[in-house]
Amino acid sequence: MPQDPFDWIDAEHERRLAAGLVRTLRPRPADSPLVDLAGNDYLGLTRHPEVTEAAAGAARRWGAGATGSRLVTGTTALHTRLEESLAGFCGFEAALVFSSGYAANLAAVTALCGPPNLSGSSPSVPLVVSDAGNHASLIDGCRLARAETAVVPHADAEAVRKTLGAHEGRALAVTDSVFSVDGDAAPLAALAEACREHGAALLVDDAHGLGVLGEGGRGAVHAAGLAGDADVVATVTLSKSLGSQGGAVLGPARVIRHLVSHARTFIFDTGLAPAAVGGALASLAVLRREPGRAARVRHVATELHRRLTAAGLTAVRPDAAVVSVRAPSPEAAVRWAADCRAAGLAVGCFRPPSVPDGVSRLRLTARADLTDRQIEEAAGTVLRTAPAA
Ligand code: PMP
Repeated sequence: MPQDPFDWIDAEHERRLAAGLVRTLRPRPADSPLVDLAGNDYLGLTRHPEVTEAAAGAARRWGAGATGSRLVTGTTALHTRLEESLAGFCGFEAALVFSSGYAANLAAVTALCGPPNLSGSSPSVPLVVSDAGNHASLIDGCRLARAETAVVPHADAEAVRKTLGAHEGRALAVTDSVFSVDGDAAPLAALAEACREHGAALLVDDAHGLGVLGEGGRGAVHAAGLAGDADVVATVTLSKSLGSQGGAVLGPARVIRHLVSHARTFIFDTGLAPAAVGGALASLAVLRREPGRAARVRHVATELHRRLTAAGLTAVRPDAAVVSVRAPSPEAAVRWAADCRAAGLAVGCFRPPSVPDGVSRLRLTARADLTDRQIEEAAGTVLRTAPAA
């Protein structure tokens, strides 16, 4: 009998099932009666009529797909306009749009580490200094770059400074601006200072900062006064605050030019669908017109956190839109999230192995379009369904 090439998958599934770690897909009903604090539609723009109309209009004008890679047929006038608009809004010299934030992060890390040498003189591979709490896409970027990676303790600028100081040659520090699990912010100003001191580049994933932090939602990098800095590159996603899909790298024009020629997830990937580009452009226009949305989402997060901690729950003080609430065990977290759902509230549930520290959490994402009444009710539901301490 020839061997079954996939039997190891069944064995792995059984192991995960026994440990309660199997992940499942749960289709979202089109008109869900749930209050959604699980998604990342921070500004409530994904169903904004201007945004959905712009997405539909872009598909009618340019087609449902981009038809090819960005270097062949996949660049429309809309892509170029979105790149100019994103760079202008966030305060960078230039931007490049990708099919996802994940692809943008893979591109940024690998391309900044340096291409295979074309000139004959071998460029040194840089050391990548990476925060222990970084998003999976940054971690995968480091792996793909085959760079030596020093993982430093979470949000510890001093550790970054020391690591850079002990290294000779090129270096790149990589961090999320706001960490996706706990919603806490990186010490960007101190990190930039450490990088400047040692001539290192700084790459910031501002996925959770865009639309939420900084003046009118210009992002955490802008808020830290680092937008447009010669040594700073940022990545963003178009799928959270902007309610669309896709990602972008923002930085000095020479870095963006380098990505066009060297970033494999740009060169060999089909361009972002025109509808997603049109939707993101419309969201940016709404955000420019209504800068109060960013302040509102921050207020909602703070208010959720205040209500939950005042009643005795343990939650990380939110720096942006994510409110992370501790659960006593993975099982309790799963049950808690299910009880919230049964009570009409969708919340995220993070547990091992998604969280390397082994601490299970409920993850609530604030939304600018929640009313004060909805905030009160949502907090009430989380508290009412909380496991006994
Ligand atoms: N970075 C961070 C910090 C994220 O939270 C996410 C989304 N989960 C990404 C990157 C990936 O972005 P996208 O979903 O657009 O691929």
